[in-house]
Amino acid sequence: MPTYATHPPMSQNPNLEQALKYYFGYDSFRLGQRQIIEQALQNRDLMIVMPTGGGKSLCFQLPALLKKGLTVVVSPLIALMQDQVESLQDNGIAATFLNSSLNAYKVRSREEYILSGKVKLLYVAPERLLSERFLPFLDLVHHQVGISAFAIDEAHCVSEWGHDFRPEYRQLKLLRKRYRDIPVLALTATATERVRTDIIQQLGLNQPSVHLASFNRHNLYYEVRSKTKYAYAELLELIRETEGSGIIYCLTRKKVDEITLKLQHDKISVLPYHAGLTDEERSKNQTRFIRDDVRVMVATIAFGMGINKPDVRFVIHFDISRNLESYYQESGRAGRDGEPSRCTLFYSYGDVKTIEFLINQKPDPQEQLISKHQLRQMIDYTEGTDCRRTIQLGYFGERFAGNCGNCDNCRYPKPVQDWTIEAMKFLSCVARCKERFGMGHIIDVLRGAKSQKITQYEHDKLSTHGIGKDKTPDEWRMLGRSLLHQGLLEQTADGYAVLKLNALSWEVMRRQRTVSIAVPVAQKITWEEGDEKAAEVEMLLQRLRALRKQIADAQSVPPYVIFADSTLKLMAQVQPQTLSQFSKLSGVGSHKVSNYGEKFLAEIRAYRQEQGLPEQQDNSTRFQDLPSETELLTLQLHQQGFSVAEIAVKRNLRSTTIIRHLSDLIEKNQSVDFNLLVPVEKQQKILQVLEILGDISLTPIKEYLGDRYSFDEIRLVRGKWRRENKK
Ligand code: ADP
Ligand code: ZN
Repeated sequence: MPTYATHPPMSQNPNLEQALKYYFGYDSFRLGQRQIIEQALQNRDLMIVMPTGGGKSLCFQLPALLKKGLTVVVSPLIALMQDQVESLQDNGIAATFLNSSLNAYKVRSREEYILSGKVKLLYVAPERLLSERFLPFLDLVHHQVGISAFAIDEAHCVSEWGHDFRPEYRQLKLLRKRYRDIPVLALTATATERVRTDIIQQLGLNQPSVHLASFNRHNLYYEVRSKTKYAYAELLELIRETEGSGIIYCLTRKKVDEITLKLQHDKISVLPYHAGLTDEERSKNQTRFIRDDVRVMVATIAFGMGINKPDVRFVIHFDISRNLESYYQESGRAGRDGEPSRCTLFYSYGDVKTIEFLINQKPDPQEQLISKHQLRQMIDYTEGTDCRRTIQLGYFGERFAGNCGNCDNCRYPKPVQDWTIEAMKFLSCVARCKERFGMGHIIDVLRGAKSQKITQYEHDKLSTHGIGKDKTPDEWRMLGRSLLHQGLLEQTADGYAVLKLNALSWEVMRRQRTVSIAVPVAQKITWEEGDEKAAEVEMLLQRLRALRKQIADAQSVPPYVIFADSTLKLMAQVQPQTLSQFSKLSGVGSHKVSNYGEKFLAEIRAYRQEQGLPEQQDNSTRFQDLPSETELLTLQLHQQGFSVAEIAVKRNLRSTTIIRHLSDLIEKNQSVDFNLLVPVEKQQKILQVLEILGDISLTPIKEYLGDRYSFDEIRLVRGKWRRENKK
């Protein structure tokens, strides 16, 4: 049974920052959170739109803790629910869930627990919430305990316009009718306007305060690579050079299986996920991924919905997405914790063809048209030379000005070259072939191929046959796509993709228009450059990770529930040696200090010892043994080689004060160069006397030793003696 921190340190007028640190261990609110929480405390209806990883949960969790009664959270997925409840409990917060995974007995005992008034957050699935059996229970809670709010997570599920419509969500409007005065908070990461308005209407929100955060995921690095025949090798290298968990998306199950096998062969810890596996296999693989038993998941887009793993460090699309919104959401599963993460898209024209083929299977022509238009935008994104962020955010109607510095186009701008001559060759070849062929054939002609198809149409007799041997097929393809993209050439959408000329094509051929294209440079991107961590920190981090995993396994929870990556990194950098220092780390709340503090401190201590770094002893975890600010200043000067007298002058203090600092520092196990302060033979003599007389005041010791020994020397040695006798 977990223990709960029931008494926040503040009573009347809660200081929100203090509460944030106490419960969640964070030092400050993210943009928007504070205002939302203030309004939630005023019982307003709220509509909160934040991108994945924006920190939505906190917006209802903190108010739930500060208000009287129970906050009911509606969440669509069992896995998600469990995850959030585990995380809350690990912060010492009384939270629980009710869903179909529990037997009747467990449900009853949890209901009793709720009625006892101890629970602050209850997670439920919508179908249960609205069931005939549950509503009377909710009434009871309302009367006995009080309901402080309803939080509707993944609120876009209420809208048919969203990508994840759930009919049960429609019924949620009933809550508004049944409990008129209880505030409703709707939360979503949906990016489209249409869905947002739908949510407000469908849930019957009452003049909600709408919070719309930017969709910019500043910690994500976006890049697009062309899928050459070396793509797999690049993929492998990407995985090897990036640390932490990752997802690789492929379009088909077959591809997923193929890549999984290859990667396994290359000794990458990897599992597959797709609809062809049994439910059991899928959920097993997913759990192993979440718990860091396996590092990489190769999956179709069936994977990821409702996966809350915050420390996914890379998402690689080995095939292109259908549209930009999907790409944004899928790649957005990286870096929910705000740490730098990488999103790579491999792009090939062949994949576009595959998706086009799939689109053509759709029965509704209107739907086909929309899908093709969306695909076009996706292609524009991959081929674009502008900032990737600007293109993505523009798609959601958000303006992002200029250079983000965190995408391939911004970091490695492609040089633009004049390819007018090549374009003229290409277009005239299309003309000579009477606008009846696709790109592959045109390129064959340009390259002077002698295939059966070419001789059959006598295209080897054309003047353009073989005039393009100086460029590779890939280069011609790049030009062809760019011409299409720039509107200088057309392509039929009948599935044959026949190239057609338009007015602009003729302008090019008549030399009335020049053609520039962005040429990719062979780029070797060094990831996390300038972020070279000292090897020492890295080694400690590995150990802390192992410890985290061990604790997590013992509790049967994912490692990130124990500590976030960012907190672990801080730990490795700061290397706290006392509980007080430990508790100051971001992400360490009161509950975590008492539950895990000692274990992690012990690991850090052991590490420092092995590395021969100055160690502190057991008593180091007692707050009073921390050196004070002024003592540390003295220590600094001492370590720079200044004598006691010099330090006294510099600090404008008496030298006896400096001596007191130093002896206290010695007692507190700081690295003071003792032999510099007291000659070795004197040390031994004083120590002998201390052994005889014990820990007494300085005067009798001095009387015993005589005038050759100063009070300062005796004081210093006594500090050392005390330290050694404390053990
Ligand atoms: P969302 O539900 O919007 O996708 P979460 O609520 O899961 O996002 O939050 C994403 C991550 O950010 C979590 O690891 C969470 O603990 C962390 N987080 C939230 N608020 C803060 C904050 N104020 N300071 C630091 N980390 C935060
Ligand atoms: Zn950019």
